[in-house]
Amino acid sequence: MLKAGIISLHTSPLTQPGAGDSGGMNVYIREFVSSLTQAGVSCDVFVRKWNAELEPVVEVEPGFRVIHVPAGACDLAKEDLPGIVDEFTDWVRAWLVENPVDVLHANYWLSGVVGHQLKHPLDLPLVTTFHTLARVKAEMGDAEPQARIDAESQVVACSDAMVANAPEERRQLVELYHAYADRIEVIAPGVDRALFSPGSSAGARDAIGYEGGPLILFVGRIQPLKGLDVAVGALAAVDDPTAKLMVVGGASGQEGAAEVARIEEMVAGLGLEDRVLFVPPKPHYALSTYYRAADVVIMPSRSESFGLVALEAAACGIPVVAAAVGGLRTLVDDGVTGYLMEDRDPESYAAALNRILANPSLQASLGGAAARTASRYPWSGLAERLRDLYTELTAERTLVDCN
Ligand code: UDP
Repeated sequence: MLKAGIISLHTSPLTQPGAGDSGGMNVYIREFVSSLTQAGVSCDVFVRKWNAELEPVVEVEPGFRVIHVPAGACDLAKEDLPGIVDEFTDWVRAWLVENPVDVLHANYWLSGVVGHQLKHPLDLPLVTTFHTLARVKAEMGDAEPQARIDAESQVVACSDAMVANAPEERRQLVELYHAYADRIEVIAPGVDRALFSPGSSAGARDAIGYEGGPLILFVGRIQPLKGLDVAVGALAAVDDPTAKLMVVGGASGQEGAAEVARIEEMVAGLGLEDRVLFVPPKPHYALSTYYRAADVVIMPSRSESFGLVALEAAACGIPVVAAAVGGLRTLVDDGVTGYLMEDRDPESYAAALNRILANPSLQASLGGAAARTASRYPWSGLAERLRDLYTELTAERTLVDCN
């Protein structure tokens, strides 16, 4: 049986997504590893021990273990994590000598650095999924340290394969990091349709206790990158004064708390206190009820490697109005499953929202098409492509060398 070492240094597939450092990547790892084990690949997932209470090894399901790696103080801030990468790597290396794997798969740049340091001494192929890239964030005004850019460049150069979540990410890797296109596999993430499927809007509203008019939903971590300010501005500009914006998620990252405060100030300044509802992060499985209760989901992100929220909303038959960035360009079929916005003007978003909210038959047809599109994204599709990739790389035995 093929065995993979999945590296996820900074965040665990077992944590609650929607706030802090936990979001789409956590869902992605939990789902693809679970599907991989069903596709015949057993996986050890290496996560930094971030809480003193954690068991050293957690068996999530047969063939899927999370290994908590002691490296640095449990409550270390994310910006200090580069300082413990070597300690983390040494520990994982010792573990892998005793418990060998056939392939390494790193997620996010910090784990890429670990994978790169492990692949040479252990002679293992390295697959990397970056999830976000510093140079892409910088293009949108979210500057990251040069050390991250340098590290990403090295990992790009020495990964035996990279997984891009969407064609746009492949282009970014090639144009911004000079990656060889033939080392990049574009493999979309998925959605669990047992959880996310169309259902009764009235029943969902009843379940979450929503009694208002049209409902615009924003789901995700609150940080500048996610563009919640654009969603609030759009609400202020929609025609229907009974429409509300529900925000499910919490502060994330160094700027998260300041962003929440800025948004609250904006809401008060616009006199929208009664029309913007803040809901703390909800367990992943419970989100389907929120999607079903909504008329439309808004996603005004500045950049987005994929955008799982857009796919989950679509799977529930809800149209999405999203920024035309990254994976959202692939996920949202403009005018068919929702609308893609080329600019960040709240008035443009409001115009798209108005079109949907004022026209129930358009809303239904966009939602129906969205649900059909989402059915093309099972997690098993990603897992099967990854299994084939791992098999190919382990058979080749000629690893990319950075020297
Ligand atoms: N999420 C969740 N509970 C919440 C808010 C978000 O489970 O309260 C999940 C959501 O369902 C999605 C993920 O967090 O699967 C966010 O992924 P996305 O790709 O949209 O954004 P990212 O966090 O990767 O920037």
